[in-house]
Amino acid sequence: MAAIGAYRCIECNREAAELYRDYQRGVLRISICKSCQKPVDKYIEYDPVIILINAILCKAQAYRHILFNTKINIHGKLCVFCLLCEAYLRWLQLQDSSQNIDPDDLIRYAKEWDFYRMFGIASLEQTSFLVGIFITLWWMRPKMLKTKSDFILLLKALLLSSYGKLLLIPAVIWEHDYTPVCLAFIKVFVLISNSQAIRVTLNLNRLLPWLAIIFGLILENGVVCLFQKMGWDV
Ligand SMILES: [Zn+2]
Repeated sequence: MAAIGAYRCIECNREAAELYRDYQRGVLRISICKSCQKPVDKYIEYDPVIILINAILCKAQAYRHILFNTKINIHGKLCVFCLLCEAYLRWLQLQDSSQNIDPDDLIRYAKEWDFYRMFGIASLEQTSFLVGIFITLWWMRPKMLKTKSDFILLLKALLLSSYGKLLLIPAVIWEHDYTPVCLAFIKVFVLISNSQAIRVTLNLNRLLPWLAIIFGLILENGVVCLFQKMGWDV
């Protein structure tokens, strides 16, 4: 028997003890929420593709299902993979701007080093962005981020909701005149997805997550400017 509050109702965010009840002989019945009288989590019956489409449409119910009612644990790997995508994109742009056709081995090593440098910068930017969000939310709603597990859940939500960055690779591979527009769309999509993840995790209104994201972006750009002023080639 699951503990009370192990799950959440995807409609009203109220804690629930179970998602379904097993009535022997393979008969399962989805639990009904005591608060809103709707099924606690209708998505347990849905195909993963439908859930993914609902998540892409930024539906709060799909976010609640993924964050509270599943045991998805890929946020760490996803974060590293997204950073690799971003590093690769920047590295390609760097190659385009410095056309060097010298076959010298030294150049190859320099290019490899450039990739690691881009990975480092992307990681630094991502960290500053997250720190900015955490500081704002902790400052505005200290009661909601009291324990370590609150922070971990929010971090997991933010990392998972950045999955849109995976689109950077196809956008760069099938390069065409509209690639800069596609990259801007991806950036906006990731930010919308991040704001929805914050909103769902902390059960907030729409305004505060955007405030946190704006502060995260300011901190991210501030750190980049600081490094540039220090003479780093960021
Ligand atoms: Zn409910």
